Amino acid sequence: MKIFDTHLSKKIEFTPLVDGEISMYVCGPTVYDLAHLGHGRSAVSFDVMRRYFLFKGFEVKFVSNYTDIDDKMINRANDESITVPELANKIIPEYAEDYGKLGVMIPTVQPKATDYIEGMIDIISKLEERGHVYSLDDGVYFDVSSYEKYGEFSGQNLDELQMGSRVDVKDSKRNPQDFVLWKFKKDGEPFWPSPWGDGRPGWHIECSAMSFAELGEKFDIHGGGLDLKFPHHECEVAQSCAVFGEDSFAQHWMHNGFIQIDNEKMSKSLGNFFTLREIFQKYDPRVVRFMFLQTHYRNPVNFSDVLLDQAKAGLERIHNFYRYYADLDLSTLPDGNGDGLWGKECLESFADSMDNDFDTSGGLGAVFHMISSINSMSTLGTLTSDQVQSALEAISAVDKVFAVLIPENETIDDEIEALIKEREEARANKDWAKSDSIRDDLKSRGIELDDTPNGTLWKRV
Ligand SMILES: [Zn+2]
Repeated sequence: MKIFDTHLSKKIEFTPLVDGEISMYVCGPTVYDLAHLGHGRSAVSFDVMRRYFLFKGFEVKFVSNYTDIDDKMINRANDESITVPELANKIIPEYAEDYGKLGVMIPTVQPKATDYIEGMIDIISKLEERGHVYSLDDGVYFDVSSYEKYGEFSGQNLDELQMGSRVDVKDSKRNPQDFVLWKFKKDGEPFWPSPWGDGRPGWHIECSAMSFAELGEKFDIHGGGLDLKFPHHECEVAQSCAVFGEDSFAQHWMHNGFIQIDNEKMSKSLGNFFTLREIFQKYDPRVVRFMFLQTHYRNPVNFSDVLLDQAKAGLERIHNFYRYYADLDLSTLPDGNGDGLWGKECLESFADSMDNDFDTSGGLGAVFHMISSINSMSTLGTLTSDQVQSALEAISAVDKVFAVLIPENETIDDEIEALIKEREEARANKDWAKSDSIRDDLKSRGIELDDTPNGTLWKRV
């Protein structure tokens, strides 16, 4: 399968380091405020990749962090007259809730930066041994001139950067791009002891330390939003490769595109900014996930209510199709001969799209094409039961990745599914008492059963 490696700026044939296993690290949010649309897009983009790797049978170790110490955390905690850990403990569950609503699987490991301070100090010590750091009055800095390849990762021209630099330039730094690894403590700020004095880590070192602790010196894919490519990821590469070697750290890099509003980048500083909560008040979070899926993860999303309305209509079309055919008594349709099944074709086309750098819009196109084909057959009176069966199976399979296509009420958990099976067995054995008792039990859980000649259908009441 092909993925677009944003370090090499091209599509490459992807082969994991270890056969059958994939290790991913995705930069997570700084937890000082509620998640915004950009966070949601990044989370969904990498969730889809993770799910597709699982769909293809890979084992996936997916690490995504919470940054729970930095200037923004400290400022916000001070504003609210709470401690930094209190702020983190307040905001982290909010992220978990919003991401959960977007159908994002919980990461295999979700490290908090403050749990990895020792690892950060280890890496800074190694950088010091190799002559990459120097101290100023306010902290320990990475000397970018000591790492020849600094700038190469993100394709930055350092000379250009030095003019009109976006980085706040401290006069005493050796190079304007030098970045802080360890900040010395200031009054009222959280701090940890270190060989250089009490203080706290800089942002970039956090991800180098957490990815090393959880995934080792080398792992398959490092991801994040495009806005993190420089300087955050450039700095991560410099630190990690300076310690662990040139071919260490992420083997491939993937970045999701921006959210734009009226063709401008959405950002707090421009004031054109939406939290997920604000959008969830107007739209089902599943519509928001579907909206993200409609655009390739690397392209910008031009966010608007029109886009959300289109997503809502598209998702409803799939849900209605699924509901209608899932409830249909298939014995009313003729059997087919099992040839040329639309569901099979849909799955092949879905896999072709997804194998091409996770082309989710192509994958959705495959589903819509199947739906149109089945609907046309129905209109023409040529629809067969095997076509319907294969279409429903295809939607279920695709939804292992998209996690939004099956209408909410039509998904049940394993326990309920097991109870329905158990009751079917009881009925087959004419154990009516047991069958009735399971029926009552399910009813108390809001599931109503309908015994048809094709088996037992269920619905939520
Ligand atoms: Zn990071």
